[in-house]
Amino acid sequence: MVRVRIAPSPTGFLHVGTARTAIYNFLFARNKGGKFVLRIEDTDLERSSKEMTEVIIESFRWMGLNWDEGPYFQSERRDIYKKHTEELIKSKIVYSCYCTKEEIGERKRRMIAEKKAWRYDRRCLNLTEEERERFEREGRPKALRFKVDKSSSFHDLLHGRIERDKNDIEDFVIIKSDGMATYNFACVIDDHLMEISHVMRGEDHISNTHKQILLYEAFGWKPPEFIHLPLILGSDRSKLSKRHGAVSVLDYRDEGFLPEAFVNFLALLGWSPGEDREIVPLKEMIGIFSLERLSKRGAVFDPKKLEWMNGQYINGLNNKELLNRLLPFIGDKLGIKDKEEDYILSVIGLLKERISILSKFWDLGSYFFVKPESYDIESFSKYVKKGRAEVNKERLEEIIRAFKGLKDFDTEILETYVRDLAEGMGIKPGLIIHPIRFALTGKTVGPGLFELMEILGKDECVERLEYFVEKIIIKI
Ligand code: GLU
Repeated sequence: MVRVRIAPSPTGFLHVGTARTAIYNFLFARNKGGKFVLRIEDTDLERSSKEMTEVIIESFRWMGLNWDEGPYFQSERRDIYKKHTEELIKSKIVYSCYCTKEEIGERKRRMIAEKKAWRYDRRCLNLTEEERERFEREGRPKALRFKVDKSSSFHDLLHGRIERDKNDIEDFVIIKSDGMATYNFACVIDDHLMEISHVMRGEDHISNTHKQILLYEAFGWKPPEFIHLPLILGSDRSKLSKRHGAVSVLDYRDEGFLPEAFVNFLALLGWSPGEDREIVPLKEMIGIFSLERLSKRGAVFDPKKLEWMNGQYINGLNNKELLNRLLPFIGDKLGIKDKEEDYILSVIGLLKERISILSKFWDLGSYFFVKPESYDIESFSKYVKKGRAEVNKERLEEIIRAFKGLKDFDTEILETYVRDLAEGMGIKPGLIIHPIRFALTGKTVGPGLFELMEILGKDECVERLEYFVEKIIIKI
């Protein structure tokens, strides 16, 4: 039975790296008909917070990664961890450590000044009986340390055998002086008690895994399988961090990425569905996911590709669904004009191909709902200079008159009509198409002009053209 878990620490937002780890664990569990467990690792009592726990849970919900068990909270499992120390104390594989943070900091600084590597110096392993008694009398806070006297090795399903010499692993703390278990200790006990079969997590945890292996051995427990995933990299191939852009999952939601695109994109950073496929919805990924197709090399997070993929998913939604997704971004703005839903849906249908991020919709198409707030005269002047457009007042007035006389104002009729007009004027159609678009939208680029005009309607088009001729043309 495959049982996997995602075990975020609520000391910050959900990082895209953890999100990707969660996706792989989720896919593996679903593919194997196993269980996906959510465990909140809040052993750091000071830095963990309820708000962050909520943000993390919301992030998983948004991505559609539903868990089968949990959330378990390590802060509620203190007694379980405490109980498990008894056995280790009896077998003398752990010892009390009375060193304070300051004392350790001081000794560490000295070592570093001497250019030596710091590892806990076993000061408390070698205390005399009197020293120990004195510390106890003084009521010094004490931690519990694991005595490392064996090297560690394990088989990683992705990387093969990984070893570490005992001299390179320090005697690590398992219970802190506040009585709480450390990450390494709680993690081993929970993975064991929760019967986790595979631990899939970031490569940056390999040094923790060595410590955890020693704990499994001390308890006489069989460790789970391990898979250490390569890290996600930024454009400069260093570990992805804030310097490269947003790293918190909900920032992507708030910016206007669809969860299905985001999940698809992250899944491809280190796993391949084969046959160079890129657009693979979650449901399909579940069917084809396998550990064999995980990559050993770090993958670069390319925001442009994410945006492209988002555009693909947006384009695949029907107009009504896309409207629902857009509402959080434009709901309040649409309220102002209270246009009919059909109108909004036809605008969405027209712009759909061009929307790559939901939050950009308003910038792209606000002119369908309000008159152009500004005119991008600079870009338009470039068109004029290049001879692709002409501003000719008389000509525009003639066009307005012609439009006014039109009974039907639909795409096809408009297209034929405008092209005929151009022919009658003896000019290329572009020379009037560009100015009309600019007058109606304030922009030089956009969807097909005739479709756009049909949606805006005759009265609105005429009104905007007249305003343009009266007020804007002189500025060009
Ligand atoms: N709490 C650890 C983290 O957030 C989990 C590591 C693990 O999966 O064991 O990185």
